[in-house]
Amino acid sequence: MPMPRYTTQFLLSAMAPAQFPAPTVTEIAFLGRSNVGKSSLLNALAGEKAAKVSSTPGRTRAINFFALRDPRGSEKLRFADLPGYGYAKISKSISAEWPKFIEPYLAERGTLKLCVCLVDANVPPQARDAQLLDWLRSVDREFAVVATKIDRLSGNQRVRNLASLREGLKVEHLLPVSAKTGFGIKELWSRMEEL
Ligand code: GDP
Repeated sequence: MPMPRYTTQFLLSAMAPAQFPAPTVTEIAFLGRSNVGKSSLLNALAGEKAAKVSSTPGRTRAINFFALRDPRGSEKLRFADLPGYGYAKISKSISAEWPKFIEPYLAERGTLKLCVCLVDANVPPQARDAQLLDWLRSVDREFAVVATKIDRLSGNQRVRNLASLREGLKVEHLLPVSAKTGFGIKELWSRMEEL
């Protein structure tokens, strides 16, 4: 369920800073380990097109940029979907690419106002996620941590897992979401619209 007043348009895939689109609108970056539910969340936020483009062969290792336009066609917001990290074989080559264009994007992009960092609510805190958050803190980048697939947990497990994630990742607030049921999507939109 995308916010009805926006339509999503794929802008471009970038694998080098020279390919980034001109920094003209507020950007929100989406980060997370492979399989965390990033495509599903993007689908819930921005529509099927966004999730589909990002999973196209050749684009999974790029930063994929999407324009969110109002009914008059003017670009209001931009999503930057970053490559999934930290899973099996592919992670090595992806980490090699971080210094080339992902770190420069995250550290230097002036129009980047928020990093939405996804963690799986069903999985204990992961070192790679904690490292990423520490790194974002070190470059003074604002972030929001979203706990995905919350629909899979019962009430008690939810409370327990969210507490353990908050502690392991050293964050005060976690936003639980489910792309499947839509839980938390409105709250995530509110957080993004504060920008
Ligand atoms: P990505 O690799 O981070 O883009 O992850 P995907 O969006 O492809 O999701 C990975 C797997 O988790 C798929 O099998 C999805 O169906 C499942 N998944 C994603 N979001 C949810 C959710 O909110 N609830 C549940 N139950 N499963 C989810």
